[in-house]
Amino acid sequence: MPSISNRPAEAPKGTTGDTWTESQGTTGWVTSEFAKTARVRSRPLQVTWEMTHDCGWKATPARARRPRNQQQFSTAEAFHLVEEVAAMQVPLLALTGGDPLLRPDLLPVVSFASECSVRTSLTLLPTPRLDSSIISELKACGLMRVAFWLHGSTPGLNDRYWKMQGLHRRTLEIIGSCHEVQLPVQVNTIVSRRNFHDLDPMIELLTRLDVSLWNVFFFVPGSKEETVEMLDADEHELIFAKLYEASKRANFQIKTTEGQHYQRYLLQQRVRESRGRLTEATAVPYAPRGVNDGRGFVFINHQGEVYPSRFLPVCAGNITSQSLSEVYCDSPLFTSLRDASNLKGKCGRCPVRTVCGGSRARAYAVTGDLFAPDPGCAYEP
Ligand code: SF4
Repeated sequence: MPSISNRPAEAPKGTTGDTWTESQGTTGWVTSEFAKTARVRSRPLQVTWEMTHDCGWKATPARARRPRNQQQFSTAEAFHLVEEVAAMQVPLLALTGGDPLLRPDLLPVVSFASECSVRTSLTLLPTPRLDSSIISELKACGLMRVAFWLHGSTPGLNDRYWKMQGLHRRTLEIIGSCHEVQLPVQVNTIVSRRNFHDLDPMIELLTRLDVSLWNVFFFVPGSKEETVEMLDADEHELIFAKLYEASKRANFQIKTTEGQHYQRYLLQQRVRESRGRLTEATAVPYAPRGVNDGRGFVFINHQGEVYPSRFLPVCAGNITSQSLSEVYCDSPLFTSLRDASNLKGKCGRCPVRTVCGGSRARAYAVTGDLFAPDPGCAYEP
């Protein structure tokens, strides 16, 4: 299941690509000795941690019998991760799964993060385990925002994706419970060929649901067979136009994931609307530097393996034997991804490559080359 990205719930409405400026995050502080001695260097703006790989819906006896090295973090390891995130002053720790409710230490982990001034969001599945009392407890523990997946505006579209009836209705009910305790809600949608005609009804639904943030994931194929679901470059542009228009009137924020070139689209709109005062060349230095795979973003799986993105299956290290800071700041994979001079083809000669850089996950999925041009981009530098 895909991961999420977030922005602070109280940020003003608007739109953003895979970007997050430093000023939008909190710095926070930590009380442990570990944190006091940690050196703050380059830091991610979001760490997403897959708390567990397990999901009750699909659990099998075989999964339950995982060998030791397949097991998820202990509670002590989870607390240590929170301390590292706090010490690095990461603005957001996004907790995801599997089904995080399967971890008995979910509430203590959220509470501990809150004590360390680490903002947390949590992606939940509408399983029978999830009810309004858990939502209230999470709110009381200091959770900043809860996220749900909705892959279509109708039960037909969403439930067909999950191959399970009733999830659309159940998700809407739980969103109502979140509003009752004033817990901000995020909705995540993976946009692919299957559902990209559904964007307008989705925007209407999210307005009615009074969500805080819509995180639009642009599909990255996980295998050759899945490439048929991937949108082409022109379809990405059409969606960008819809998101941009929606961002002017919607009362929720819109964020893209693996749609780094939305930053380029926004920059082009700023230039167009400046009526000749700006050019792309003059606008680039002032544009927010986009978050990209490994540049501002880190994904940690349930075994502690560190990746630049959940959709980029190249591992940079493991936090059970290294510090998160070490992997993020010094691993050859992360440092090379942050170096725009490594980009190839049109991404390499693109004037907005420092703002965008293209989806490294999509480039890798389609070509096997981390630095190849993003095949989902229509821009010709
Ligand atoms: S060519 Fe590459 S760097 Fe330039 S806008 Fe497109 S994806 Fe981004």
